[in-house]
Amino acid sequence: MATASAAFRDVVARYEPVIGLEVHCQLLTRTKLFCSCRNRFGDQPNTNVCPVCLGLPGALPVLSREAVTLAMRAALATHCTVQETSIFARKNYFYPDLPKGYQISQYERPLATEGYVEIPSGGAFRRVRVQRIHMEEDAGKLLHEGFPWSGEKSGVDFNRSGIPLIEIVSHPDLRSSEEAHDYLTALKAVLLYAEVSDCNMEEGSLRCDANVSVRPRGTEAFGTRAEIKNLNSFRNVARAIDHEIARQVAMIESGRKVVQETRLWNADKAETASMRSKEEAHDYRYFPEPDLPPLVITREWIEEVRRSLPELPAGKRRRFVAEYGIPDYDAGVLTLSREVAEGGRAAPRRLPGEAGAARGAREAHRRRDHHRQDRQGRLREDVGERGGAEGYRGPRGAHPGFGRRADPGGDRRGDGGKPRAGGHLPERQDQHPGLVRRAGHEEDRGTSQPPGGERAAQEGAGRAGLKNRLLRTFCFARRRRQYRGPDSGPVLIQGRCT
Ligand SMILES: [Zn+2]
Repeated sequence: MATASAAFRDVVARYEPVIGLEVHCQLLTRTKLFCSCRNRFGDQPNTNVCPVCLGLPGALPVLSREAVTLAMRAALATHCTVQETSIFARKNYFYPDLPKGYQISQYERPLATEGYVEIPSGGAFRRVRVQRIHMEEDAGKLLHEGFPWSGEKSGVDFNRSGIPLIEIVSHPDLRSSEEAHDYLTALKAVLLYAEVSDCNMEEGSLRCDANVSVRPRGTEAFGTRAEIKNLNSFRNVARAIDHEIARQVAMIESGRKVVQETRLWNADKAETASMRSKEEAHDYRYFPEPDLPPLVITREWIEEVRRSLPELPAGKRRRFVAEYGIPDYDAGVLTLSREVAEGGRAAPRRLPGEAGAARGAREAHRRRDHHRQDRQGRLREDVGERGGAEGYRGPRGAHPGFGRRADPGGDRRGDGGKPRAGGHLPERQDQHPGLVRRAGHEEDRGTSQPPGGERAAQEGAGRAGLKNRLLRTFCFARRRRQYRGPDSGPVLIQGRCT
């Protein structure tokens, strides 16, 4: 509220904001959630598509085990309980980027429930509760600019259609835009530590909606909330929340009623505008997805994923306090970035098995191709979003460390951009029409990783070790292609899915 008068600020101060955040996070898988199309940002529009993610009649989804594993990593890293049975559901609505007419999501029985993320508060840390984490597929993307014909019509790119997402829904535990910002910063750090996502907001890997209401201080009942969408940076989340708080207080003070609705943040005008009256769950006609069985997760699988997690920011923070005797808050700032906390060592080196070598290679591959796209000046996804996207840079009064942009993923990018010893992972290795990756394939890949002792020895060997692991990943990927034998499945879309 840069423009608010001092008097109005006093009025606003009589109200307590109640804020909950819904964070959508793209998982760093090789393939989409229900088909084996490539999950990669920046490719030419409609090149990573198949009948499943185009929603063609008769195409059937098959769940990616890798996506479930990453979603579980996120759930366990945020202290959620992973449910042994969760159910995929159809969320029905129309939009031009949603060819099926529904999105496969989870509704009544999500993957994980009731966890928390710790944020700084008054020199210490407090918990912001996570209500649920569920899995869902992303929709395609409408392209409104960047083409010669953009003045007359819009295009649709289905490369993003079917990319695996998790939605992390917080309880309405946040009480200011600063806390919302701190929560996002802490959540992003956890997701980066757990190697779940690259959390790149500019590329849409991390998206946030905010539910905001206000109530007179000292009262218990929640006010009517508005949901704000289109928040493409942490800074805009904070600005939009502040704007929305002031708008709602002004309405109440002038005797009007806040209505429940969805509002869009306009970063250029620095205001929210009504988009539609808030839809209710029954508007979506959720029902269990008939093409997918319940997702059953064994305790062994959960424990295996739990064991594979690295030390997370909160644990590292406590250890730093205990070992080095530094204040809790300082330790919190230090551990926001894994790169900083581990003394400049690149994060992937310390990760076990698949999570380290394969994903490190995958990330390198993805980044390099992405940069190549940039150089060639090709069309980029999210043209509109890139303009306004920016981190929350300047230090802020209360929590200077948490106000700064903390992006270990960005640091890793430098490493990922260098040429690797083994050259490329083979192009299109995932696009065989044997097509949908069935449960167990990722496990196969996992078991082919070097045994623990050998791996541990390499981890001590620094750069040479990383190079060797990347090389082995590459060799294994080549072997996989050779062992697959001749193409035997149907050719689905010539030149795309074969
Ligand atoms: Zn597909």
